[in-house]
Amino acid sequence: MPLQLVFATNNRHKLEEVAAKINDEIQLLTLEDIGCKEDIEETGSTFKENASIKSHFVYDKYHLNCFGDDSGLIVDALNGEPGVYSARYAGEHGNHAANIAKVLDKLKGVENRRARFKTIISLIWNGNEHFFDGTVEGTIRHQITGNGGFGYDPIFQPDGYDITFAEMTMEAKNKISHRARAMEKLISFLNSHQ
Ligand code: IMP
Repeated sequence: MPLQLVFATNNRHKLEEVAAKINDEIQLLTLEDIGCKEDIEETGSTFKENASIKSHFVYDKYHLNCFGDDSGLIVDALNGEPGVYSARYAGEHGNHAANIAKVLDKLKGVENRRARFKTIISLIWNGNEHFFDGTVEGTIRHQITGNGGFGYDPIFQPDGYDITFAEMTMEAKNKISHRARAMEKLISFLNSHQ
C-alpha cells in the first residue's frame, strides 16, 4: 500500500507539479481529499512560521504525514516587503494588479531594484519536522512586461535573463523558480526516506 502524504493546499496545480516527480510509493492528497474544509489562517510573521502552521494543522488533526509551503517576494529597498504579505500587499487578498502597482509606486525613483522570491516548505514526516527552501534572485522592473504566470511575475526579472517571469514559458520558469527549487529538495528527501 502506498504511503499517504498530504500537501496542505487546495491548489491542484501545485499538487500535480510534485506528484509528477515523486515515486509511486507515495500517494499525495490535498486538503479536499482528506475532507479538511477549514481555511488554515496564515498568522505567522515569517514564511517558515506560516509553512509550519499549515503542516502542523493537518498533522495535529489528522495524524497524517504532511507538508505545507509559503512563498513571497522580498524587495531589499522596501526592507523585505511585501514578504509574508505578498498575497494581500495592497489590502485585498490576491489582487495582483494592485499589489504590483503598490510595489512600483513605492520604488519610484529608487535605484536599488534587488529582490528575490522565496519558498519555505515544512514537512512533518513520522512526527519530525523538516524544512526545505528555495530562492530565485532578481530585480524589479520599472514597468509591467509580459502576461504569463501570476502574482508579481510581470515585474520580476530573474538574474541571468533579460525577460520577466511573465514572459517565460511555464516550463522555463519552473526550472529556476523558488518553488521548484524548494520542491526539488523535498522530493529528493521523500525519494530517499521511505
Ligand atoms: P503562496 O504562498 O505560494 O500562495 O504565495 C503567496 C503570494 O506570493 C502570491 O499570492 C503572490 O503574490 C506571491 N508569489 C509567490 N510565488 C510567486 C511566483 O512564482 N510569481 C509571482 N508571485 C508569486
